[in-house]
Amino acid sequence: MRRIASSLAVSLALALAAPAVAETAQAPEQVAAETPAPANPPRLIVAVSIDQFSADTFAQFRQHYSGGFVRLTGGVVFPSGYQSHAATETCPGHSTLLTGTHPSRNGIIANTWYEPDGPRGDKPIYCAEDQTDPASSPRNPVVSARNLKVPTLGEMMKSVNPASRNVAVSAKDRAVVMMGGHKIDAAWWWKGGSFVSFKDRAPTAAVQAVNAKAAATIKAGAKAMPIPVWCKAADRAVPVGKTTLGTGRFALEAGKENQFRISPRMDAATVDLAIGLADEMNLGKGAATDLLSVSLSATDYVGHATGVAGAEMCILQNQLDQDLGRLFKHLDAKGIDYLVVLSADHGGLDMPERMDQQAFPAAERADVSLTPENLSKTVAAKTGITVEGPLVFGDAPAGDLYVSRKLTPEQRTKVIAALVETLKASPQVADAVTAEELAAMPLPTGTPQEWNLRKRARLSYQAGRSGDVLLILNRAVTPIPEAMPGAYVATHGSAYDYDRRVPILFWRKGLRPFEQPQPVETVDIAPTLAAVLGLKVADGTFDGRCLDLDGGAGDTCAK
Ligand SMILES: [Zn+2]
Repeated sequence: MRRIASSLAVSLALALAAPAVAETAQAPEQVAAETPAPANPPRLIVAVSIDQFSADTFAQFRQHYSGGFVRLTGGVVFPSGYQSHAATETCPGHSTLLTGTHPSRNGIIANTWYEPDGPRGDKPIYCAEDQTDPASSPRNPVVSARNLKVPTLGEMMKSVNPASRNVAVSAKDRAVVMMGGHKIDAAWWWKGGSFVSFKDRAPTAAVQAVNAKAAATIKAGAKAMPIPVWCKAADRAVPVGKTTLGTGRFALEAGKENQFRISPRMDAATVDLAIGLADEMNLGKGAATDLLSVSLSATDYVGHATGVAGAEMCILQNQLDQDLGRLFKHLDAKGIDYLVVLSADHGGLDMPERMDQQAFPAAERADVSLTPENLSKTVAAKTGITVEGPLVFGDAPAGDLYVSRKLTPEQRTKVIAALVETLKASPQVADAVTAEELAAMPLPTGTPQEWNLRKRARLSYQAGRSGDVLLILNRAVTPIPEAMPGAYVATHGSAYDYDRRVPILFWRKGLRPFEQPQPVETVDIAPTLAAVLGLKVADGTFDGRCLDLDGGAGDTCAK
């Protein structure tokens, strides 16, 4: 009896000892964590955006990361950051990250909108183009930040101290422009097989080196990528259209630039460029704090082409994690005191075909009757009104819809009423709201998680750019009527939380780690960074609030 008791005591002691050993191993970090957050501003801000990186995707893969994300999840973690607005597209999403303002204020209400009363009339305007330049079109834009109505953090830093460098890189021009703003010292985006910039900027040696490496890879092709063991469950073929998706490995056929772009190789090249420019420009080693914005687009390209829950996304997440680790280790080796913030322009939803198999049969594709062309026909038939050009126009069977400017005021009222009635009669439509209704609403306040759909939509509304009627589809209705495997099978852009919720992660050496699961907003990032930098910013500059990054009694927001 005594022996049993004693051996029980021993095993109890052993069991208790196990966590004690683990804590001892963590002790040095614990001591460091008790010190307050560094008081001096960092020398470099690294602002990373992962394009189409939902809080759901982050939660799904978080347990498997072993590279750069491990560092970030050991920092300050806000797992429930909100792109609070309804039109969760790339341009609006990137516009909130470093301006601290919502689209309703900064003007970037969508990727593409119409200004029917302006010179383009019923032809679209791309968010990141200079539409006043005759050489510009949405398909081949003269890239510009002219449509962004507020300054970015990088511009604010430069106005306080012109020695600050504002650098932005991405596969997407709109990500570069919306994170960088109107005054960018180095701006590079991918176009047709190489990184390019504004027309007066010649590629530097660093850019040429990355372009040469990418060109060689595209020319030669590349083998399939390895699949981590933890991706095996996702590795399953799902029928979509005439093919299947879900088991891709990113083998690159020689000469196929598109396959390079829609793969983790695009992110690796973007990280190569970020590293190359950091070295070439000595970022973080200058007379003032520099800002390096890096928007990684491959998650979005792969999400659109294959959905977010197959082997493709799993392989991509593994590569992304490694690429981020490579970037951080490079900056470590340079001895730079840098602060990282990582977030996303929007989340995303998996393709309906796989969701249907995975216990969400309500996921479906939008009916063709909801395309602007077909709505135009229906409304014309309903009202008996026809005009030269489209009666109803817009970008997709979701979001902003515009009516012809050739209508009399009486006809306009009739057409809008018929359009709203048509939309509301569809079993796939959650709401149809007029511009007048949105304009009359106050800007929402409080927690973005609690807002109804119209409040979310209010933050995407701006007079002169927004549609006459806003179409809000039901939850999990994908506004792609017909799947295009390899290009477009899934998307984002909705007012639902799978598209609005994104992680917001901060890391800096010496920052005490904590995790705050309550909702915060992406418009909180800029005021948070401004406070860390000690930037004096006029009251009311931001729509967001400063997040205190000191998990203890200290306060990084204190003036
Ligand atoms: Zn995007």
